[in-house]
Amino acid sequence: MPEKGTYKISRKCVDCGHEDEIGVTRSEAAFILVDIDERLGATCKICSSTLFSRSYETPTPDLALLKEWAEDEELHFSAYDDDLVLAEAENLNIILEVLDTMPLSDYKTAALMSALCILVYDNSSTNDAAAGQLRLRVIGELNKRLDKLKLADGLSREFIKEKVYPLLDVEV
Ligand SMILES: [Zn+2]
Repeated sequence: MPEKGTYKISRKCVDCGHEDEIGVTRSEAAFILVDIDERLGATCKICSSTLFSRSYETPTPDLALLKEWAEDEELHFSAYDDDLVLAEAENLNIILEVLDTMPLSDYKTAALMSALCILVYDNSSTNDAAAGQLRLRVIGELNKRLDKLKLADGLSREFIKEKVYPLLDVEV
């Protein structure tokens, strides 16, 4: 059954201001599966310009989307940085659920573990009590899954490793 197109991608011509939009499904929007220029043609239908500003409505990742992502190596929340997109406090529970309950490729495991490291990093340079609690919880969750952390080694940025790994029960 086809999903209903409910997320908008729009394109505005820089030269004449003409604006077009298309509707895409939730998955298409989350994983950027539709190229609006492919759908509408590469030139403005009013003035033939090829200069556009584009805007994308994207759904917040939830468990259903994260499971879909986990099952398909081709799907990404962003061109390169799945971990950066996922590193939000509200994603913590779904990340842990998918890590612990689904068969995952090395890349997907690495992206999720890296997202957890980024979450620690992002909540480290503050005295905010909530950030401190979150940081401690994520450190605890990382420590429970150190076997998976080495998979994230290649993916994690050095500056994150430098700050986060010393907080974990790992040899650095
Ligand atoms: Zn135009």
